[in-house]
Amino acid sequence: MTLVFISQSDDPALWTRMLQAAIPELEVRVWPEVGEAADVDVALVWKPPRGALREFPNLRLIASLGMGVDHIFADPELPAGVPVARLVDEDITVQMAEYVALGALYFLRRLDEYEDLQRQRSWRRLAPTTASACPVGILGLGVIGTRAAALLRAIGFPVAGWSRTEKRLEGVACFHGEDGLDPFLARSNLLVCLLPLTPGTEGLIDAGLLARLPRGACLINCARGGHVVEADLLAALHSGQLHGALLDVFRDEPLPADHPFWTHPRVRLTPHIAGVTRPEAAAAQVVENIRRVRAGEPVLNRVDPARGY
Ligand code: NDP
Repeated sequence: MTLVFISQSDDPALWTRMLQAAIPELEVRVWPEVGEAADVDVALVWKPPRGALREFPNLRLIASLGMGVDHIFADPELPAGVPVARLVDEDITVQMAEYVALGALYFLRRLDEYEDLQRQRSWRRLAPTTASACPVGILGLGVIGTRAAALLRAIGFPVAGWSRTEKRLEGVACFHGEDGLDPFLARSNLLVCLLPLTPGTEGLIDAGLLARLPRGACLINCARGGHVVEADLLAALHSGQLHGALLDVFRDEPLPADHPFWTHPRVRLTPHIAGVTRPEAAAAQVVENIRRVRAGEPVLNRVDPARGY
């Protein structure tokens, strides 16, 4: 078996070591040094350049190095009919839930405002509030959204979630579809985006959506930058409709040095680190899928290209 590794942000040497520890005979080639392209059976990828995957005529699996697959389906020249599998990774899921809980507590305990006061050397106590008085709304009740909901509930936040199809989750007010969006937004003092990026969710967080949140709400986006219309987010922060935003993902990554988010007083940002793939945790799942490809068995966590997630 031959695997091609395509990523500018994951360590090929570490992945090669992890994969070959389980499958010693696996040949790993690191793009763009791919040798004879016809040898390649499996591609392990993060943000493959447009047209790169089309080069491999005998590909039997495209495996994502992350839980999202929008970076794969973004390629208009993606070879049709080759199974695409995503990671469903406990380690990333826990990291994501932690990030959401951290952001929720950050705004709840007004740490953004205390950071400003610290810069002013101002010893002031702001009125405290409690988690029970701060309803959180999670866009996307999948693997990560469900985990984040459970952690937020354990802290004491009232939690609602919104999904495409109907869900029942203990202790979570579940809304779905277009009709469910308005009542969901109306009760979300903190909105968390954990949706996949698809044509149905691109640009969802726009002026119209933000206007339907309670005034002074906060936003955490750790899904994809494409979910947010950035100019509308800046306008909502400016008008006070939004109090603050914690952002991990952006339309352009790395975020350009002159982007207004960098210096905005009400924006806190991190460089797409909410959930990082660690080969120590994720390699076993890739190994299992390589085994399945070899055995002619259906792969795990195959994504439906029509649904896009
Ligand atoms: P899942 O596929 O498990 O869940 C997706 C959820 O979104 C489902 O509940 C689904 O609804 C819902 N959804 C999809 N489309 C729509 C729509 N049009 N309207 C309403 N709801 C919709 O995804 P995960 O939880 O595994 O991951 C979510 C995303 O998190 C990833 O796609 C990725 O973009 C992002 N991510 C970001 C990371 C980071 O470091 N910043 C790390 C890991 C992931 P239904 O249940 O009805 O199908």
